[in-house]
Amino acid sequence: MDGTGANAGLTSVPGGRRYSPAAMTDFRLFAVPALADNYIWLLADAAGAALVVDPGEAAPVQAALEREGLRLGAILLTHHHSDHIAGAAELARHWQAPVYSPVDKRIHADRQVGDGEWIELASPRAHFHAIAVPGHTRTHIAWHGHGFLFCGDTLFSVGCGRLFEGTPAQMLDSLDRLASLPGDTRVCCGHEYTLANCAFARTLEPDNAALAERTRRAESARAQGLPSLPSMLAEERACNPFLRVDSDRIVAALGHPRDRVGRFAELRRLKDDYRSPAA
Ligand SMILES: [Zn+2]
Repeated sequence: MDGTGANAGLTSVPGGRRYSPAAMTDFRLFAVPALADNYIWLLADAAGAALVVDPGEAAPVQAALEREGLRLGAILLTHHHSDHIAGAAELARHWQAPVYSPVDKRIHADRQVGDGEWIELASPRAHFHAIAVPGHTRTHIAWHGHGFLFCGDTLFSVGCGRLFEGTPAQMLDSLDRLASLPGDTRVCCGHEYTLANCAFARTLEPDNAALAERTRRAESARAQGLPSLPSMLAEERACNPFLRVDSDRIVAALGHPRDRVGRFAELRRLKDDYRSPAA
């Protein structure tokens, strides 16, 4: 779908062009709970214009926009799964908001964006670039801009997505790309899986102090009914086993030397089989 009308006022940005990012504090970030354990992310500028990421439902987004007095100006999608896109068409229609997605025939969008491409939005005033992160799905992208990373079902706090369409080598490469972003990047994941992920990670690294602190914070947030997200990328590097396949403790926990892709595949297999006491 072309939807040039919906794109009025928006300009594409050639790949590689850099912008000096506005301070994160110019934006307000909202995690909107949806479905069983999804988060739909809203990012609003100072003028009250917002973008939404991965609206798996329209109704909770509409309610949040109304509650916060925001106008929706753009819809960003990370991958084709229905719990991330099912509300997009209704929101696009209601707000005349353009939809940006990965290049994938399974998704209806006004513009499909490839790896490294930038989008510049007029409303909210913001710019993001797409990072190809295949693994959970073949065409999954993450959106990065203004210090925020919207990573869908690729990187979770203290975990990562299941491999539905990709190989362990692809997913590890995707996580490596995300892990190389600045440490103060706010990691905005698609699901509230943190406590179950922490329980699994503690079986591998029971003495990891950063993991203990992350667990404590997530427990405190959840006990108050608050999201455990976003997390900081630096803390993910310190306590997320899937970002730590080169760490001595993870290598030791896996019990025998392997190449890093083999270690990643083994971690993913262990997690797939793990039944969390917290879940
Ligand atoms: Zn998914």
